[in-house]
Amino acid sequence: MSTPPFRATAPAPTPLPPYTGDDATCAKCAFPEARTRYRKAGSYRDDEMTLFGPSPRPERLERECLRCDYVWDEALNPPDAPEPIGRELTITELADALSASHQGWALDLSPELAAHMAVGLLRTLDVRTRPDATGGAS
Ligand SMILES: [Zn+2]
Repeated sequence: MSTPPFRATAPAPTPLPPYTGDDATCAKCAFPEARTRYRKAGSYRDDEMTLFGPSPRPERLERECLRCDYVWDEALNPPDAPEPIGRELTITELADALSASHQGWALDLSPELAAHMAVGLLRTLDVRTRPDATGGAS
């Protein structure tokens, strides 16, 4: 995990600490106000260097101190939101699904192009298996 070049960063603890509400206090400067942003699983912060593939961070609420810009992650609120169905696809599984999806058409994806497209899609989409689907990733 890389760190942003210009902000203090807290590693993502497992499990995430509970949401501290509107009156969150910054652990670095004790300022009593923080911004909240929803982040889906696998997403990076805006100022974070991206890795090859999705971030290992789970679905979360990202907090940012309004005085010193320190950023930390907290659990969703309420924390007992329903679990998503299925599991997230790997890059290889999504690349295979992309390659298989065009059969019968003139488009022919090379394995490298399919993998490149899969990485790009997984940066912005939450792609999961469907338990009722046949063929492909399970
Ligand atoms: Zn602060």
